Amino acid sequence: MSAPSKVGVQLVVIDGPAGAGKTTIARRLARHLGLPLLDTGAIYRALALVARRRGVSWDDEDGLARLAQDLPIRFGGLPAPEEPDAAQTVWVGDDEVTTEIRTAEIAEGASRVSALPGVRRALLDLQRALGAKGCVAEGRDMGTVVFPDAPFKFFVTAALGERAARRRADLGATAVGDQPSLALVRADLESRDARDSTRSAAPLARADDAVVIDTTALDPQGVLDLILRRLHGPPRS
Ligand code: C5P
Repeated sequence: MSAPSKVGVQLVVIDGPAGAGKTTIARRLARHLGLPLLDTGAIYRALALVARRRGVSWDDEDGLARLAQDLPIRFGGLPAPEEPDAAQTVWVGDDEVTTEIRTAEIAEGASRVSALPGVRRALLDLQRALGAKGCVAEGRDMGTVVFPDAPFKFFVTAALGERAARRRADLGATAVGDQPSLALVRADLESRDARDSTRSAAPLARADDAVVIDTTALDPQGVLDLILRRLHGPPRS
């Protein structure tokens, strides 16, 4: 048995579309609960990056599945309390890829490789193993496929315009090179949302038993408060 977290919660899953605020909320919640953070988008991003470096096409399902099978990904600890929104470090083998996986190009690659059923299958055990001791897991299919028995499930969403503005601010803070226009970020998000929601393998979808939170008009603390209120109430039956 793993040690109980501060409020006795072991596993919380947060799903939702890109730019809805999942990562910020998941980071703050993990810190609050004293649980590790499992950022599954970073796993797909790392796979897209490794594929690019090794010359494996983002459409080569078998080649990508082989890479995914042995993906040596590791996550660093959560950022210091003084910097609650700093990124968690991500490593592939001995190589730190925290910043490199956040570019718009790698986001596009992650969306493409994650649409392939063989890739998703190959990454399922890895995700479960990384979350086995309890975690806050964030992604697109945490509540539906990876951790369907999670006692606490949230689906975080926001209006497209707001998500685009947030994502652009994120890119400005972390990406290398020029900041893309809002229109471009919005178009990217729309095409990623469409692919993530319509793919046959584990599409972005709300689990029936997930609590939906629209973050359009909320700041991160407001979202965190809503989630904590739920966690302190009775778990779903
Ligand atoms: O959340 P993030 O933007 O980092 O995710 C990158 C891409 O990885 C998403 O666009 C989505 O296509 C994919 N993804 C996924 N399933 C997850 C997490 C991310 O398909 N559980």
